[in-house]
Amino acid sequence: MQGMMMDRPLLISDILKHAARTYGDVEVVSRDTDGSLFRYTFGELARRARRLANALHNEGVVHGMRVATLAWNDHRHLEAYYAVPGMGAVLHTCNPRLHPSQLAWMLNHAEDTVLLFDPAFLPLVEVIASQCPRVRKYVALGASAPTSTKLTNLVGYEEWLAASSDVFEWPEFDERTASGLCYTSGTTGNPKGVLYSHRSAVLHSLVLGNAQALGLTRDDTVLPVVPMFHVNAWGLPYAAPLNGCRLVLPGGRLDGASLYELIEGERVTFSAGVPTVWLSLAQHMQTKGVRPSTMRRSVIGGSALPETMVRLFAESFDVEVRQGWGMTETSPLGTMSAAAQDDEKVSAAERYRRATLQGYPVFGIELALAGPDGAHLPHDGVAQGELLIRGPWIASGYFNHDAMPLVGGWFATGDIAAIDAGGCMRITDRVKDVIKSGGEWISSIDLENAAMAHPEVVMAAAIGVPHPKWAERPYLYVVLRQGAALDTAELRTFLEQRVARWWVPDDIEFVDDMPIGATGKVQKQILRKRYVEQAAC
Ligand code: ADP
Repeated sequence: MQGMMMDRPLLISDILKHAARTYGDVEVVSRDTDGSLFRYTFGELARRARRLANALHNEGVVHGMRVATLAWNDHRHLEAYYAVPGMGAVLHTCNPRLHPSQLAWMLNHAEDTVLLFDPAFLPLVEVIASQCPRVRKYVALGASAPTSTKLTNLVGYEEWLAASSDVFEWPEFDERTASGLCYTSGTTGNPKGVLYSHRSAVLHSLVLGNAQALGLTRDDTVLPVVPMFHVNAWGLPYAAPLNGCRLVLPGGRLDGASLYELIEGERVTFSAGVPTVWLSLAQHMQTKGVRPSTMRRSVIGGSALPETMVRLFAESFDVEVRQGWGMTETSPLGTMSAAAQDDEKVSAAERYRRATLQGYPVFGIELALAGPDGAHLPHDGVAQGELLIRGPWIASGYFNHDAMPLVGGWFATGDIAAIDAGGCMRITDRVKDVIKSGGEWISSIDLENAAMAHPEVVMAAAIGVPHPKWAERPYLYVVLRQGAALDTAELRTFLEQRVARWWVPDDIEFVDDMPIGATGKVQKQILRKRYVEQAAC
């Protein structure tokens, strides 16, 4: 027997309509390129999104067409987040930190028709434009069009919008319609496009806000530091308006000093980003001897969270840090580390340890582990295998690509993990980063976290390098705090107290900085290349 409830589609335009209707006077604050702050409300956001939908419609954009963005987190980008999917087209968010040839490849693969870009990226757009014949309109996200001798069909966003009406009826269509397209970083082979749907985006936003996940309420002021070109800024541009949270968008200024100023000036209560960004914020606050006065919670994800960072934020800044795990293919929310309310009974040290575990699947998500033969492994906290995931916002395939990521209905993540009997998941490595020494695995994440527990260590990255006897041994790259007096023997002794003796790398190299990739993560492929080049000398 079927239930007798209305079969209404879950559409992104409904988030906007709800925010405008219920939280119409809640503010959006957006930092411009010149550092000034622009302010308006969800009501105004909805009005301008309708104008943008009309402008795109007048440009010939119809249902299913792809519209690309190359932009920081700001209010104009936010308008595209609603207008493009709202009208039934597909928002393709592009990462400006990628190589121009890779960007051009993506624009062509996605068959983008319009490109909305931050004027700061004009030189980059000029380089790729001749390789992207399908893009028929370039829109500079500013007051007027910048001067360009290379781009024909270039307009300024505000002029373009002003010429369009703000009367637009958001169409109703199947909730399985594609809403967004985001390419994986493509560290192995060409990037692959993950095609989100309205249904997946709305369900993801609903769960993202709930207590087990980010716990967003009407009292929160949310600062998405994670870029809107990186897995939809983890869904915050949808989840914040859905929950009536004030939204603060940092533009392109992501250094510690600028972030701190914004957090204080706008009384931010919640923020989210990758560890490297929090590191620079923490360094700034330590140097200046300041702490945030309103920020209480922060979610860090995208790579493993070192315990030192959890401790530092809790003890020096009174900010509760939780960890989220996910990937482009998972929208991205898959798991969250333990919530603070579960932790009251345990010691601070245990709380910090728990925050370093990737944590529990949120509602809607199921996890499993696959052994080398594909058989599922027990959830006993010991068995390690490839992490499998399924749920309504997990990719089932890639856009115009033959790769078939599903194994028996599960998405194979390429991460190695263990899951304990209580359902808590711990990532130990990525399949491609795992270090196999003498037939046993060394977790590069655990080794890096052990090194980063040393007060003089700022960052650490372990790679596996060939060894005649053990097949592979770990090689540890370490960035030290400025002026630190630490030698490799001391660091080795420190590590011996924290990890199995055979895990301790024979080779530790101090470096000035780490190669950081387009999504703020250490690029181990560059470290491996560097090692091979050094070894050849
Ligand atoms: P890429 O890193 O390839 O650019 P994603 O941004 O989709 O692509 O990254 C997904 C990967 O990032 C995951 O498969 C996992 O290896 C890593 N990751 C994400 N969150 C965490 C976390 N909390 N702890 C450890 N690794 C993480």
